[in-house]
Amino acid sequence: SERTLVLVKPDGVRRGLIGEVIGRIERKGYTLAALDLRVMDRETIERHYAEHEGKPFYPSLVEFMTSAPSVAMIVEGDRVIEAFRTLAGATDPVKAAPGTIRGDLATVTQQNIVHGSDSPESAEREIKNFFPHLA
Ligand code: ATP
Repeated sequence: SERTLVLVKPDGVRRGLIGEVIGRIERKGYTLAALDLRVMDRETIERHYAEHEGKPFYPSLVEFMTSAPSVAMIVEGDRVIEAFRTLAGATDPVKAAPGTIRGDLATVTQQNIVHGSDSPESAEREIKNFFPHLA
């Protein structure tokens, strides 16, 4: 089986959607292997979004992601990396299909509630970044 790194971003935590996100993950059939609620430090978020450095939305994204608590989770199961991306829906919530987390619950791209790793390589890197002791 596989592991992926899921974040409930500060907008999701502020809106009381932690349970909604975890519920969807669990009802789908996946398992939580680790969970941590904390205000993410700037270094962690800059490493996480290094590929976006220099883009117009990057400074605001880093501010947003370090502004309030997020939940980081390791989620486990068969093909969970792809499956969670499907549950989350498209990055732009306006384009995300109804039935997905973003399609049902969000309206703007920066505040799109969740993050999920996009490949096995990203998952291992991201798990190491948020849970160094579990990598
Ligand atoms: P994530 O990596 O958070 O799961 P993603 O892989 O769907 O999202 P990316 O293109 O990697 O999307 O962008 C990372 C995050 O940066 C997005 O989830 C969103 O919060 C923010 N973002 C991306 N594009 C924009 C944009 N044009 N305007 C504002 N924020 C953006």
